[in-house]
Amino acid sequence: ATFGTLSDRLTETFRNLRTKGKLTPADVDGTVREIRRALLDADVALPVVKEFTAKVRERALGDEVNRALNPAQQVVQIVNEELIAILGGEQRRLQFAKNPPTVIMLAGLQGSGKTTFAGKLAKQLEKDGHTPLLVAADLQRPNAVNQLQVVAQQAGAAIYAPEPGNGVGDPVAVSKAGVEQARRQQHDIVIIDTAGRLGVDAEMMKQAADIRRAVDPDEVLFVIDAMIGQDAVNTAKAFQEGVDFTGVVLSKLDGDARGGAALSVASVTGRPIIYASMGEGLDDLEPFYPDRMASRILDLGDILTLIEQAQAAFDEEEARKVAEKIANDQFTLEDFLDQLQQMKKMGSMKKMLGMLPGMGQMKQQLDNFDESEMDRTEAIIRSMTPGERRNPKILNGSRRLRIARGSGMTVTDINQLIQRFDQASKMMKTVARGGVPNIPGMGPM
Ligand code: GDP
Repeated sequence: ATFGTLSDRLTETFRNLRTKGKLTPADVDGTVREIRRALLDADVALPVVKEFTAKVRERALGDEVNRALNPAQQVVQIVNEELIAILGGEQRRLQFAKNPPTVIMLAGLQGSGKTTFAGKLAKQLEKDGHTPLLVAADLQRPNAVNQLQVVAQQAGAAIYAPEPGNGVGDPVAVSKAGVEQARRQQHDIVIIDTAGRLGVDAEMMKQAADIRRAVDPDEVLFVIDAMIGQDAVNTAKAFQEGVDFTGVVLSKLDGDARGGAALSVASVTGRPIIYASMGEGLDDLEPFYPDRMASRILDLGDILTLIEQAQAAFDEEEARKVAEKIANDQFTLEDFLDQLQQMKKMGSMKKMLGMLPGMGQMKQQLDNFDESEMDRTEAIIRSMTPGERRNPKILNGSRRLRIARGSGMTVTDINQLIQRFDQASKMMKTVARGGVPNIPGMGPM
């Protein structure tokens, strides 16, 4: 499916990155090179690729990654943000005129999916309580009017089409008459389907520009077939110069498109993608959300949300102090208790642990991870005196017995906790000194 290969390649790139701790400039360069190749192979236009990779590289080498708790995830986050930016940033909805009817004109190459989209849009607008009128201004292709009639019927929408032999040949007149009819019949939206050619040509552009001038549309939507690949940019630019448009509709995103058009057009034209058309059926239309599309491409939807949660829960400065303590052998049960508290704030432990880098080997343990164990651990630490928490070495037999009673556990539980804490501290120390990035306190407790 669309983006399949691109997604796979980016995921692979990030998987390699995720096993690293601090990122060296060489790591960043390697990653950026992989991203660049993946994008080019997906037919994303070269200028877009260049700009994108330059931004990602600059940010990935910058402070935000250096300081990050988890540099690899931070890079993923950056790629995600820059992808969203390329796709247009904020979602942009269809704009309606203050005084109806809202006039929407469609433009694009023949076969790009204009007529199909006209039907889809009409159907969706009807569902939302509008009363669209479809106008058949594609008088070039013999069967075009007929096709729009079929689509209108399927969508249950009204249509304005010239009578055969009557005024045929003047799409500008038909468009104007269509808008007038809408006004008379109280349609609040007019959708004008215009002619396309197999390639861009001057006459077609002039015709589209003439229609635009005549009806002064509120939206001119440029429909582009996502499968068009490298031609996307030139076609889009030609239409921008020839007619100009206010928004883009990506059609056939359901096909085997490599996604390049999607990733290039908004960025190259500076016009937002408003709809994604994903099938031949009239219901296969979705508003375009840059952020969702980026997640889909990165295949990382859930993970990114989790990263955000983790970042909100963990103060980076705090985390660095903890890492320092661990490295210097100063991490105490008191700190550990703090960490447990923080982790609880984050909600689902397992999900959280699952997204941590380098946790693959620990998967087995994670699956056995029991959140109530965290509560028991907390109870034990809470039954210790501050002195004991800071220096577990003073925990002799009678102290352990007292803690066991205080926390409602057995001495064996206490012994195990301390033993595990020792092991965990050692492990974390290794990690903190340049191993896998980590969130302290998440050893095999
Ligand atoms: P037009 O010449 O621009 O009006 O293009 P059409 O609407 O006639 O579409 C050309 C062909 O593409 C038709 O066979 C449509 O069924 C097909 N088509 C249009 N949109 C989509 C889409 O989103 N997905 C798929 N798979 N096919 C589409």
